[in-house]
Amino acid sequence: MAAIPGKKSATPFTPTVDAAGDPTTCFCCGMRAVALGVAPNPKPDPQYLCRRCIVSINDYKKIRRLDDYELRALDAGVEAVGEWIADNGGLTELAHYDELNQRLLVKAAWEGCARGLREALKDAPF
Ligand SMILES: [Zn+2]
Repeated sequence: MAAIPGKKSATPFTPTVDAAGDPTTCFCCGMRAVALGVAPNPKPDPQYLCRRCIVSINDYKKIRRLDDYELRALDAGVEAVGEWIADNGGLTELAHYDELNQRLLVKAAWEGCARGLREALKDAPF
C-alpha cells in the first residue's frame, strides 16, 4: 500500500491493539477488530483485522451483515445524526449544508457510532 507523505502507512487505523494485547480497531477499515494480525513483525502493533476484512482476503462476499456490536454502533450513529440535524435547522438534504456543516454532520455520525460501539462493548462477555 502506498504511504502518505510524512506517514508510515496509508492506513490510519493504528494502534490496533490495547494495552492488554487485545484487538481493538481493524488495521484495514477501522471497524472492530477480532484477530489475525497482518504485521510481519507483530510488535508493537499486530495490525489486527475485523471479521469482514479477514474473510475478504479469500472471499469478501460471504459476510454481508454487520455484527451485533456494529449494528448497535450504527443505531447510535443514526441517533446522533438525527440529533445533529434537529440542532442545525432540521434540513435533511445534504446540499443545504455548507462544507463545514457537511463535515460536522459526518463527524456526528462517526462519533455517534464510536460512542455506541463503546457502550455495546461494556456488555460484551469478553
Ligand atoms: Zn476491517
